[in-house]
Amino acid sequence: MLPFVRRSCGISSRIPEALKWTRHIPVVGTSITRSYATEGEVDLVVIGSGPGGYVASIKAAQLGMKTVCIEKEKTLGGTCLNVGCIPSKALLNNSHLYHQAKADFKNRGIEVGEVKLNLEKMMEQKSTAVKTLTNGIAHLFKQNKVTRVDGHGSISGPNEVTVYKEDGSSEVIQTKNILIATGSEVTPFPGAEVDEKVIISSTGALSLNRVPEKMILIGAGVIGVELGSVWSRLGSEVVAIEFLGHIGGLGIDMEVSKNFQRILQKQGVKFKLNTMVTSAVRTEGGIKVSVESAKDGSKKEEIEGDVLLVCVGRRPYTKRLGLEKVGIPLDPRGRVVVNERFQTNVPSIYAIGDCIHGPMLAHKAEDEGIICVEGIAGGAVHIDYNCVPNVIYTHPEVAWVGKTEEMLKEEGVAYKIGKFPLSANSRARTNAEIDGIVKVLSDKETDRLLGCHMIAPAAGELINEATLAMEYGASSEDIARVCHAHPTVSEALREANIAAYAGKAINF
Ligand SMILES: Cc1cc2nc3c(=O)[nH]c(=O)nc-3n(C[C@H](O)[C@H](O)[C@H](O)COP(=O)(O)OP(=O)(O)OC[C@H]3O[C@@H](n4cnc5c(N)ncnc54)[C@H](O)[C@@H]3O)c2cc1C
Repeated sequence: MLPFVRRSCGISSRIPEALKWTRHIPVVGTSITRSYATEGEVDLVVIGSGPGGYVASIKAAQLGMKTVCIEKEKTLGGTCLNVGCIPSKALLNNSHLYHQAKADFKNRGIEVGEVKLNLEKMMEQKSTAVKTLTNGIAHLFKQNKVTRVDGHGSISGPNEVTVYKEDGSSEVIQTKNILIATGSEVTPFPGAEVDEKVIISSTGALSLNRVPEKMILIGAGVIGVELGSVWSRLGSEVVAIEFLGHIGGLGIDMEVSKNFQRILQKQGVKFKLNTMVTSAVRTEGGIKVSVESAKDGSKKEEIEGDVLLVCVGRRPYTKRLGLEKVGIPLDPRGRVVVNERFQTNVPSIYAIGDCIHGPMLAHKAEDEGIICVEGIAGGAVHIDYNCVPNVIYTHPEVAWVGKTEEMLKEEGVAYKIGKFPLSANSRARTNAEIDGIVKVLSDKETDRLLGCHMIAPAAGELINEATLAMEYGASSEDIARVCHAHPTVSEALREANIAAYAGKAINF
């Protein structure tokens, strides 16, 4: 039991109708379930333990707040650790190694015997990584004195959260502040109900027990192309259907997207762009998907496969959260409305992460969690969404931060472009990984870096250099004059900046 929680009621007999659903006596059927109430007020109750919620909880505790974190799932870590970033990256890494061993080792003078896939073992490694990291959060909670409460949290007042537990009991926690960090869930696709066997979501795609012969993928955004790559490398024929005219989702630079598409096509992934799925019907052998051109409805086609992966995005999750009880509105996209301090219209209630505006990214949720609780503690609150990097963890990786060319044109900003192909980078050449490009955009007048876009091995690491530069308002010349270790792929970033500020790169 929690140190500050006392059991207030343990009756299990019949009660008058009038007493049902009174504050501390939730009733299931005719019997009263156990209920707890806090003895003293806590400083902060965080609802949700994803990267937003767990990081906020730890930071709050480190700032001296008595903090409770409520999680409805059995493990901590939310989407990111359980069914998102971590398991997908484990599979991306291992499927890449498998593919290299099968198709690329021989080109590098490495001869191995027959390379075979042990999918069960690959899934086991993924699960071990997830388990180690989710247990790590439990350990950090203990270390930082964050109290974990299992159950579904529901806001029952501006300073009160009721937690509904699996065993039917509930607990009421009085608190000075509440932080909503309830994240997001898979957006369903009308007419293609997910059963996680034939029609699967990203969650099902992380746990398939066999390699599908043919996988049809709806949505060639970030999650779609990552998971499509995994199964393509493991042997599936992958056909991705995308409504938009490009891959990689919103916010990607169009030149980079086109290059990226070419690279994935070379790897075997097929794309049908500007194409809509009109129906998906289960068949004896799997699934039959009807599609038509988004531009010309008379152009129709049927595609058969054994698995359909639906990756059309995610939507905020605020089910049974009690927002209506305290009058907190959602915007038309179902996101909790907050001000620049992440505060809702109820001053004691805040929200961060996937359930509010902005990109649905783990590091964005984390940063918001930290600055939101710093704000509650009296600190300044500032985040520049323009400096939140994006990464697609395929091979090579795609990463970007700041403005795209399309955005700058739309905003009427005069800019310079500096580009450097990976084929001219000595490290990429040495490693025989020459597919890719680094492209920077800087202000025509001031030379300030406005955006950076790249396709490169480990672009997800390299983009952080550009992000740091942007946070500090660096110019292309600033980056170009920083000594970069040789031979490294980061020299391509330096060269692209040389090209932007001096008009020409050195090594190309
Ligand atoms: C396949 C996949 C791959 C991804 N890869 C990346 C990546 O590489 N990089 C990246 O930055 N992002 C990635 N994302 C996105 C990332 O996972 C999310 O942006 C991030 O998890 C959002 O964090 P959050 O804390 O806002 O919410 P979540 O991680 O969704 O956590 C919310 C938590 O709140 C709990 N909860 C909800 N309601 C209640 C309630 N009422 N009571 C108690 N608990 C509740 C949920 O159970 C959940 O644990 C990926 C997502 C997917 C699906």
